[in-house]
Order: sequence, then C-alpha cells, then structure tokens
Amino acid sequence: MKPQSKDLSLIAEKHNVGLHVDCCLGGFVLPFARKLRKNIPKFDFELPGVTSMSCDTHKYGYASKGTSVVLYRSKEFRHFQYFAYPDWTGGLYVTPTVAGSRPGGLSAACWAAMMRLGEQGYLEAVEKIISTTERLCAGVKEIPGLRVIGEPVAMIVAFDSPEFNIYQVSDLMSKKGYGLSPCQNPPCVHICVTLRHADHIEDVLKALRECTATVRDNPGPAPKDGTAPIYGMASSLPGGPVKDLLRAYTDVVLKV
Ligand SMILES: *Cc1c(COP(=O)(O)O)cnc(C)c1O
Repeated sequence: MKPQSKDLSLIAEKHNVGLHVDCCLGGFVLPFARKLRKNIPKFDFELPGVTSMSCDTHKYGYASKGTSVVLYRSKEFRHFQYFAYPDWTGGLYVTPTVAGSRPGGLSAACWAAMMRLGEQGYLEAVEKIISTTERLCAGVKEIPGLRVIGEPVAMIVAFDSPEFNIYQVSDLMSKKGYGLSPCQNPPCVHICVTLRHADHIEDVLKALRECTATVRDNPGPAPKDGTAPIYGMASSLPGGPVKDLLRAYTDVVLKV
C-alpha cells in the first residue's frame, strides 16, 4: 500500500508537529472532485493532523494572479504569520502578510469570480476537467512506448517512457504547438488539464501518438535545441552548479 495523506496526518499527530497541505493547484479542484468521484482520498482539515493548507484562487479558482489563500486550523497557528512591531516611530505596526500594502482590486476581482461561478459553476468546471483527464490518461496508456506514472486521481497526468528519452517527445510536441511540462526525478513530462483542454483532448492525443511513433522509430540522442534537454540535464548534474545556472538564467531573464 502506498502511503496516503491520512498516514502523514497520523505521523504528524503522533509526533505533535504541524502538517501543511500545499493545495495551491488542487485547492479548487479536489473538494469538488470528491463530490463527483469516489476515488479521491481525504486530504484536508477532515484529517485531524492537518494544521494548514494553501489554495490558489488564481489557478482553478479562476481569479487573477495576485490572490491566494492560506488556511490555518486555528487562530493560534495564524498568529505565527503576523508581523508586529510596536516600536515603530509611526505607531503600532502590524501586518497579516509579508507584503504590507496590498491591492484591494485583486481581492474584489477574486470575490467576483467566486460569486459568479458559485459551487455549481466549480462543480461543472471540475466535471469537465476530470472527464478530460480520464480520457487523457486512458489515451496515453494506449500509446506504445508511453507509461503513465502512478494513478492520476485529479487533473494531472504524468508519463515517461521505459524505451526512449521522453523529452524528445516533448520537443516534437512543442513544434506542433503543444507544450508538455517537463519534470525530473524521474525524467517525465506532465499535462495539467484545464478547461481549455476539454474540447481538444483528441487532438492532443493524436499529436502525442504521432510524436511518440516518430521518436520510437528514431531514438537518437536528445536534440540540442528546445528546452526539455535542459530539464533533463539538470536531473543528472549535482546540486550546486545547477543552482548557479538557475541564478544566471534568472539574471538573463531580468535583464532589460
Ligand atoms: C502554483 C503553486 C505554488 C506557488 O504558487 P504561486 O501562487 O505561483 O506562488 C506552490 N505550490 C503548488 C503545488 C503550486 O501549484
């Protein structure tokens, strides 16, 4: 039996330590998915060991970027987040977040998005997303040379290949206009299904069948252009130099 969230909850309780559930991506999918499907385990405050959770309203909450939510089991835990400085010359200073001034417009837009969709809106969106994911998962399993990693229960399908360099498939897919997200440890790619995929999943699978067949027929070394080989390389380099490389990369990105 693979360890599940309930096992982590038991460990946290047993040792009296906090357990944070990073539900940034799944926060507005999983609660609805649990109402629609039977195979999704408990993952939230229903588990007694869970002490905090993060949920991104700016992802599947359909709000704009700049808002997110962190939830605590109790006010006592929330106190650790506050910054208070009573000796400031401007008076007693306290802020609930790292950022002091924050834009109210973003919160208003977030509220409007949630009110507009409502529970029914989120349920309908999640039903589409999950049925699309199920189709994607079944489709990938049918493609010779590809292997789905784990048993996807929500909206992410990761896959690799026991035969060839999966990043080559990723490169060919991006030439067709489909961006697969590369992952490492183990080398694989994933698709995070959104509403945008719902009407196009057969096209994605068709492209994936074609690209996989091409790589299976010509399994050469990884091509030099494209981003995937960089990700692949990172999984075989030691920690230090890669960090420097990522810093240098960020310097270049920020350069005006
Ligand atoms: C997006 C995401 C984050 C980071 O969230 P930002 O709002 O982009 O800072 C953290 N954890 C998970 C699992 C995420 O999906």
